[in-house]
Amino acid sequence: MIPTKTGKDLQMMKAAFREFYFNHGNRIEEPVRIQNREFGLMGFDGVMKRHLKFSSLGRLVASLVLETPSDVFASNAQYDFPVLPISEKGWRGADLIFDIDLKDLDLKCRLSHSYMTCFSCRSCYFSGSEDRCPKCGSNNFAEVMLPCDRCINGLKSEVSKLHRFLASDIGISPEKITTYFSGNNGFHVHVLDESFNDLNSQARADLAAYIMGIGILADVIGVRRDTHNDFRVRFPLGGLDYGWRKRISDKLGISITSERKLTKLVKELGDIEQFRKRVADIAKEMGVRIDSQVTTDVHRVFRMPGTLNSKSGLTKTLCLDLDSFDPFEESCQLSSREVAVEIMPPRLKLRLKGERFSLSEEIVRVPIFIGVYLISKGLAHAV
Ligand SMILES: [Zn+2]
Ligand SMILES: [Zn+2]
Repeated sequence: MIPTKTGKDLQMMKAAFREFYFNHGNRIEEPVRIQNREFGLMGFDGVMKRHLKFSSLGRLVASLVLETPSDVFASNAQYDFPVLPISEKGWRGADLIFDIDLKDLDLKCRLSHSYMTCFSCRSCYFSGSEDRCPKCGSNNFAEVMLPCDRCINGLKSEVSKLHRFLASDIGISPEKITTYFSGNNGFHVHVLDESFNDLNSQARADLAAYIMGIGILADVIGVRRDTHNDFRVRFPLGGLDYGWRKRISDKLGISITSERKLTKLVKELGDIEQFRKRVADIAKEMGVRIDSQVTTDVHRVFRMPGTLNSKSGLTKTLCLDLDSFDPFEESCQLSSREVAVEIMPPRLKLRLKGERFSLSEEIVRVPIFIGVYLISKGLAHAV
């Protein structure tokens, strides 16, 4: 939950967003067969308009300048009739998309850049273990955070892991895998291979579970319960050279000739149940931390590449080279026009668009890209 914004906050954000779409609307990526997509526009009033249709990118951009929504979404699905209710749209397949979000990574640096902001008295503090506002005693507060370089690197390594699964296990050629920074705390990976478009929700759920390492059994490397309620080891005929059977056997130090070693290992752990648990733990540890609900939903509207994310004022951006990609540079595309804001936390440091800022609890003039970034996180207010 993001702390409430004032009318002035929303006015400042909306003006910055309108200016962006007026000057840089051409940076929005046109979806394949735009006329068959459903669009959703989230207003700064918090109301989402769905079931919209735009026949060209030009018409969409014109509408963004005119209406200036806070967030812009297009369906991953293609429909015969995008404006009708879901049951009547005529589904014609959906792009396969994966979402990797900071909230699923549980990184240790989080507390070092988290703040609590109070809804009642608007005070803002470094986050600790408080369960109520130290100033007014209210328990109505939100924890907000500014991601750091370690957060971004943690996300990138998870994205690379996903790339490896998609290429080596699923057989998707790397040039058909496109990666975007979401504009806030995550990355979206889009598969541009239409042979996956017909997959239904269940098939996508199975694919997501495989990638996450859920439901990987000891059977995969040939350890099974036998008729005497004991176990037996018989390696799979196809060997141990690919997929999860390779990951699990490498992790256990097992090769196709080490049947006795594997038998010993199971006995050392106690019994087959303990071994199964060990395999499940390894698979969970080695799997990719994706948000499976995102992959499974075939009627979802997704943030459009090239549009602004109202949780940060940063742009959803294509990452041509993941290693060198720096969201705090490349995704910060609002102007440098100066605005006055009141900084809420006692102090904060951040780096954005090639500049380092060290700010403290006072009214300051800052470039609007900083103002919007902090307002969107609830760490500053427009004055
Ligand atoms: Zn308070
Ligand atoms: Zn961090």
